[in-house]
Amino acid sequence: MTKDYNKVSVLIVGAGPAGLASAIQLKVLKPEIDVCVIDKAPGLGNHNLSGAVLEVQALNRLLDSAVPDWQDSEAARDVLARKVHEDNVMFFLGKKLAFNIFFIIKLAKIFRLSVGQMIHKGDYIVSISKLTKWLGRLAKELGAEVLTGFAAEDIILAPLDRSNVGHKASDSEKYLTGLDESTDKATGVKLVDQGLDKEGDKQPNFVEGEIINADFILLAEGCDGLLTEKFIEKAKLQRQSPQLYSVGVKEIIKVSSEQYKKFGDTRVVHAMGYPLWTPVIGPGMFGGGIMYPAGDEHIAVGMIVGADWKYCDFNPQDALTNFKNHRFVKKFIEGGEVVETGAKMIPEGGYYAVPRDAETGSIGKGSVMILGDSAGFVNMLKIKGLHSAIDSGIQAAKAIAENLNNPEAAASRYTELIGQSNVAGEMASAKNFRQTVAKFGPLQGMPLSVLASLLPKFKTEYDYEAMTIAPYRLKPNQEYDKDTFTAMAATEHREEQPSHLTILDSDICRTRCTPQFGSPCITFCPAGVYETVHDEVKPANPSNCLHCKTCQRKCPFDNIRWTVPEGGGGPRYKQM
Ligand code: SF4
Ligand code: SF4
Repeated sequence: MTKDYNKVSVLIVGAGPAGLASAIQLKVLKPEIDVCVIDKAPGLGNHNLSGAVLEVQALNRLLDSAVPDWQDSEAARDVLARKVHEDNVMFFLGKKLAFNIFFIIKLAKIFRLSVGQMIHKGDYIVSISKLTKWLGRLAKELGAEVLTGFAAEDIILAPLDRSNVGHKASDSEKYLTGLDESTDKATGVKLVDQGLDKEGDKQPNFVEGEIINADFILLAEGCDGLLTEKFIEKAKLQRQSPQLYSVGVKEIIKVSSEQYKKFGDTRVVHAMGYPLWTPVIGPGMFGGGIMYPAGDEHIAVGMIVGADWKYCDFNPQDALTNFKNHRFVKKFIEGGEVVETGAKMIPEGGYYAVPRDAETGSIGKGSVMILGDSAGFVNMLKIKGLHSAIDSGIQAAKAIAENLNNPEAAASRYTELIGQSNVAGEMASAKNFRQTVAKFGPLQGMPLSVLASLLPKFKTEYDYEAMTIAPYRLKPNQEYDKDTFTAMAATEHREEQPSHLTILDSDICRTRCTPQFGSPCITFCPAGVYETVHDEVKPANPSNCLHCKTCQRKCPFDNIRWTVPEGGGGPRYKQM
């Protein structure tokens, strides 16, 4: 591909459930148009991590329209092998006591309270890595081009921001930035340069990142996408409330057949309370633990923690350790072998954090649409977003199909379709939930959240602003083994490339953060990327990075920037 001719009708950035659902739906609606999906992961599903419990309706609709008898296929039987029959919502009181409070959720459902949504019975326990692989294969079979190992670093948007340039754009500037001053539209994306050394100098194998031009661009990068956030800034989209995040760390553990049998093949466990909050002693963090069967005598165990935690020495992996040591959990996994690990952020801000065009309210602008987790389509009451990701992909495809000759109308049509879809209902039903808990803390906020959608929108701060000097009082005795965690995530990057992690001002680390907070990035990074080297905090091991982006959102001085490394780097999840 050369720059001048590198042009597709629809470019989808991100081969996750949202992007691939779009590709599949587009190929059903308009088989004649060219659809290209790019993803930075080395292979399909390698960068996808989720709980994951899937509400299957949107997937059914998508595949019913695309593939005859898809339910009979081996892949469908494999991905959708486990339907939830037993639903536990546990409250952990201290290290030993566990109460199943599922009856409260059932009561809430009877009284039509929003918390009643936490019922998962009838949904499917899936591996998002496998689901993604399957959807990618289907998209390819339908004629979409699905390219992995292609990392995009920028979205090209016209018109040029004059405040940064101070003169009229020259022809070469227009070429380089893909400017089209007359139309105010995004014209393409720029891929990452390959073959630079650590200092950024070109090596003999240097290949300049190509520009892929497209009539339509779908941003489906998942949580905190690089291009999505750049686009939000360049196109001046706005959120009513800052996006809030949580950090999820997950392990897949091979257990004995007795343990697996005891746990069950169709049971999901969601636990709140210890070690994130307890009624009397705190520590008062939003989130909880999860346990799902992962098939073949494997159990997935995870911990999700709201990134507005205030403890400067806290690491979500410590909470995971405490969770695994709780008597209820331990009996199912003790003696087991961790075979895969991973970490990821989840966008939790919900309704008020969806980025929109200030004038039109569109979730995107012109021919660019924002999908799935990139838009923040996650319902934290259900702790689910996969179905909305797929649904948003379907709606984006419909919007494009209706506007092939008028790309500039696509984002507004997409937004209308989202408004008529289940996605809008989901977002509305959980509106203000996370803001209420952020405002009042889990102890008061969780009960109050029953009324969240009726309450006024609470002003929330960015997650990084919540950090204090307080210590996490439930720090486990054993240090979490980050080396093994990273090894089990199978993360790899070409060592001789510029670091994709930047500390903006190392003086801030030295003079403010280290004395005040003790350099939290060293503690909370799940992969041990940050270290003190010669008295200076540095991203010393960027090749360990799991692409979770926690550091970018939790450095208390907002002093870290995450960009994409060369395509093909990062974790290699198989069963997440
Ligand atoms: Fe602190 Fe951020 Fe510097 Fe790390 S990068 S030491 S968290 S200011
Ligand atoms: Fe996550 Fe940042 Fe650590 Fe990479 S360096 S694993 S993005 S916290």
